[in-house]
Amino acid sequence: MNCDDALEKLSDHHHETLATGEAVAVAEHLGACGGCAQAYCRLQAQLRGIGSAYAERPSSGTRDALRAAVATEFAAKPTGGLLSFLRRPVPAYGAVLAAALPLVAWLALRPAEPKPIDVAQPPAPARIHDYGATVPLFDRNVS
Ligand SMILES: [Zn+2]
Repeated sequence: MNCDDALEKLSDHHHETLATGEAVAVAEHLGACGGCAQAYCRLQAQLRGIGSAYAERPSSGTRDALRAAVATEFAAKPTGGLLSFLRRPVPAYGAVLAAALPLVAWLALRPAEPKPIDVAQPPAPARIHDYGATVPLFDRNVS
């Protein structure tokens, strides 16, 4: 096999569509000829790059559908902000914060000091002065 024949069959050799005898002949030529081996390596790299480029690039219809979906999802809506706020994921500590909210509200809203009770003071009890239990009442000069 000469170089022209080998270069002609490199693509078929890569895709493994050659008959067994031809594939062996091409492989033997690639092992013996540096120029054709280099061309085969280049062809493999190009085919790998083309394959990955086509594999990663979505079709134009898919791209248009994605753009439309993104435009619909992120379009400004009057209630969209509130709904997305309510639908957002809540962290694990959110339940603890929600449970502590009444305590925080009570601490924030309670008065600093208790107010004095504004009630009229009852009159002071009568006090007895100059009273002696041993002195009979009739000996006293009571008028
Ligand atoms: Zn060659």
